[in-house]
Amino acid sequence: MNETRVPPPTAEVTVPPELARLGITAEQLAAWRAKALAVHQRLLEHYGEPRLPRRSPLDELMLTILSQNTNDRNRDRAYAALRQRFPTWEEVRDADPEAVVDAIRVAGLANQKGPRLQAVLRAITRERGNLDLGFLADLPLEKARQWLLRFKGVGPKTAAIVLLFALGKPAFPVDTHIYRVTGRLGLRPPNLSVEKTHILMEHIFPPETYAAAHLNLIRLGRDYCHPRKPRCDACPVRDLCDYAAAQAQPEGSP
Ligand code: SF4
Repeated sequence: MNETRVPPPTAEVTVPPELARLGITAEQLAAWRAKALAVHQRLLEHYGEPRLPRRSPLDELMLTILSQNTNDRNRDRAYAALRQRFPTWEEVRDADPEAVVDAIRVAGLANQKGPRLQAVLRAITRERGNLDLGFLADLPLEKARQWLLRFKGVGPKTAAIVLLFALGKPAFPVDTHIYRVTGRLGLRPPNLSVEKTHILMEHIFPPETYAAAHLNLIRLGRDYCHPRKPRCDACPVRDLCDYAAAQAQPEGSP
């Protein structure tokens, strides 16, 4: 195990208003930034640079809606089946709802996801006259985010995934793994909501690290930081982790 390498938070830090409203201080922000960078570097050493997905914004949006409450394998199987049955998104939009549900059944919750996919496709068509989301690349980050969030079934995580991976915008998606892992590491206040964790992560990781940090933190959550029994003994960021430090305290010590 490497020595702890969190640099002391010395730089002057200004707390942006959206974090000040959450009661976050300059000292906390500086400490989280230093730790976030140390965790990111350690995960790069451990896992390497992850391969980034390259999809169109609409492909990414549809895939992410399909991924809700399922694993990557079933998500990918459902996506492949859907694309095989309906090669264009226009065909998915205009298809018999039962046929869409049938195609994506392996993803689970198909009766919800099928109508949701079609509703989003219809809503985009109503707004834009077509299904091309390329225009989002030209909008400022917050405008693009709000545009995506208007659709039922598109929450902060889904919007951030589309913005980050398909449009190259500085959004940090927080899924269930990242929420759990950042809580245990001590990279956010324990009771911060998932929605506000998105905002905080965008202020503590440097934008150029978002994609790799997001993917490697998910991997850490799957490989080591399991919900019930985290494998702290083998974890590559154990020496940076508040949860592991608390577990190592002898009982009864302050
Ligand atoms: S040390 Fe344990 S609690 Fe901390 S990130 Fe690793 S597995 Fe999770």
